[in-house]
Amino acid sequence: MRVGCPKEIKNHEYRVGLTPAAVREYVGHGHDVLIETGAGAGIDAPDQDYQAAGATIVGSASEVFERADMVVKVKEPQPGEWAQLREGQILYTYLHLAPDPDQTKGLLQSGVTAVAYETVTDARGGLPLLAPMSEVAGRLSVQAGARALEKAHGGRGLLLGGVPGVAPGKVAIIGGGVVGKEAAKMAIGLGAEVTILDRSIPRLSDLDDLFEGRVMTRFSTPTAIDECVFAADLVIGAVLIPGASAPKLVTKAMLPHMKKGAVLVDVAIDQGGCFETSHATTHAEPTFEIDGVVHYCVANMPGAVPITSTHALNNATLPFGLALADKGLPALNADPHLLAGLNVHRGLITNRAVADSLGQEF
Ligand code: NAD
Repeated sequence: MRVGCPKEIKNHEYRVGLTPAAVREYVGHGHDVLIETGAGAGIDAPDQDYQAAGATIVGSASEVFERADMVVKVKEPQPGEWAQLREGQILYTYLHLAPDPDQTKGLLQSGVTAVAYETVTDARGGLPLLAPMSEVAGRLSVQAGARALEKAHGGRGLLLGGVPGVAPGKVAIIGGGVVGKEAAKMAIGLGAEVTILDRSIPRLSDLDDLFEGRVMTRFSTPTAIDECVFAADLVIGAVLIPGASAPKLVTKAMLPHMKKGAVLVDVAIDQGGCFETSHATTHAEPTFEIDGVVHYCVANMPGAVPITSTHALNNATLPFGLALADKGLPALNADPHLLAGLNVHRGLITNRAVADSLGQEF
């Protein structure tokens, strides 16, 4: 199969669908790989690295779209890209179609077969192609929060780890899933005092075992949230109710009861945010302040670290991508977890949740 990877064109997107290491594996499986020139610039992978891995460098995205049997990307296709997709071609990328009727229409009209990273499943009921970005965002959330706590960035002026003789900062993590667990690892590593709140007792139990007493766990009630948020220097919002908007767990009325210069990092902002006062921000202007509390609400946190994020994403997408390239569409019938990723096929929506949320036929 001919596999193609264009340069990402979404604003401030520096990741790339294929790393040179992934290209080498596709080529090793007997596939031709086309890479748009400069596609790897954001991850410090020049064209020569791709050529050394066996790829052919082409001068434009349109050449990739025209010649590839399968297009591998990171972000959902932009309007100029939909127009270049066609029936019989496979698109393998993040799509997030549910809130995006325009893109859905574009993909349906193109006739393309689109496999969305975010709905591919695994045997444990997880989302293996979404998890790496949650891992990145979780770890980054503590870095971002620690920085925002610095006085020059509007924060309390507190070092999360303290120093000998001075108490560390308190971190409250609301939601102990993938993001929450990785945030906890980083916060513990910095020496902070960490509490994780979750509504799932089995999850709290797993975290308690994993961290062997180095974090406190609390069942997430409004009372527990009040106590932890009012005591915290840094609060990380990491909840997810699959398919739903994030619940507003920290309200505006709570802010005056928080420490002045405390920081809220709302990782769940891509699902609407779990703090009432959150609104999406960008890496260029990541924070704003309300009632003396600093808010960090960047919707695409992994974009800040495209090298790490691209390699983590490729590690997860490669096995499924190779299966698609090796077998073509029969790969979908051979693996129910990959089939769960099929969102659009020849003008039809093939994912029930996407169809339901768009009010369209399944
Ligand atoms: P996850 O499903 O692994 O974990 C979510 C956790 O929230 C679960 O353990 C669940 O029990 C818990 N939860 C649900 N309701 C709760 C409540 N009321 N109180 C406390 N806990 C509650 O999800 P994840 O992969 O960790 O993702 C978390 C959020 O981060 C999602 O909204 C995801 O989209 C988002 N995310 C954002 C970025 C970004 O760049 N901003 C990047 C990656 C992920």
